[in-house]
Amino acid sequence: MRTKIIKIETGIIKVPLKKTFRTALRVATEVEDAVVKITTDDGLVGIGEAAPTAVITGETLGSILEAIEKYIKPAITGMDILDFDELMLKLHRCILKNTSAKAACDMAIYDILAQYYGKPLYEFLGGYRNSVKTDITISLNDVDTMVADALAAVNDGFDNLKIKVGGDFKKDIERVRAIRDSVGKNVKIRLDANQGWKPKEAIYAISQLAKYDIELVEQPVAAHDLEGLKMVTENSPVPIMADESVFTPEDAVKIISMRAADMINIKLMKCGGIHNALKINAMAEAAGMECMVGSMIESPISVAAAAHLGAACHNITRFDLDAAYLLGEIPVEGGIVYRGPEIFFTGGAGLGIGKIKDEYYLPENQNI
Ligand SMILES: [Mg+2]
Repeated sequence: MRTKIIKIETGIIKVPLKKTFRTALRVATEVEDAVVKITTDDGLVGIGEAAPTAVITGETLGSILEAIEKYIKPAITGMDILDFDELMLKLHRCILKNTSAKAACDMAIYDILAQYYGKPLYEFLGGYRNSVKTDITISLNDVDTMVADALAAVNDGFDNLKIKVGGDFKKDIERVRAIRDSVGKNVKIRLDANQGWKPKEAIYAISQLAKYDIELVEQPVAAHDLEGLKMVTENSPVPIMADESVFTPEDAVKIISMRAADMINIKLMKCGGIHNALKINAMAEAAGMECMVGSMIESPISVAAAAHLGAACHNITRFDLDAAYLLGEIPVEGGIVYRGPEIFFTGGAGLGIGKIKDEYYLPENQNI
């Protein structure tokens, strides 16, 4: 039996966050993401999501919808899901960059493929685990707010805090010291500077921060500054993870061959979806580098896709998938459920997402 793409629809999912999200790069108060639904001639429907994170990927809601409608849709409509490699080639070659738009379509295709074989996506991809445990992000704020947020997270059962730093590096040291003092020794702390430091500031800051028992530091310096990243990595007692410096498998080749970082944070929105994420993870594994799977500010649709990927692969050892936990409401049926930091799959083949609740969904274009 074949399963041919006959329809690609786009829409928008909109959900408020519980509280404002702040990093060294941006402030967010809601999720407003593009959604894609792909239907095949045998009645399977796959769903995907793209987060417009303009300061990281350069994509906006409008650019994502246009990339899908004007470039991806004509390139892959009529193709058979089982001609998978050719389908991926067309998806990735029909337009340069636009990785989040591609990720939404890639995850919808994987959703269909796993449904076709009757398996939950994490089993289809490798099935190493059947749940994952996420950290929780503490937004960049004044010290007292960050300490209060950290204590609230620990109270909710989280034992791994991802603390946003990358502001004034002296204040960052104060932030981390205060949080470590208040949460005690048994909570893991990882830091994300979101490119906020210069290489020498990073080396100084990390040398001071190391005494607060830091698991890793994400993206200390500018994304394009691979030499600076390498210098920090070589001079840091704490493992350094590349995030914004690695979008695609080609970027991963560079980071790995330069040994510019110790670990890689894979995000579907940066790499263009699960197909490329698996390539990055395989290269990292061969180089002895572990990966984290993270997300942007996303709803449970694309967070489910990332969680399925992370659960499938033994070399993905860390999970930064609290995005859907940060939502004020649950906009979809099925997919994933959080029990404190643990993310479980609700069952069903593929991504396992049921319906997007009407009040959170705006259809954009339902034409064939
Ligand atoms: Mg990051």
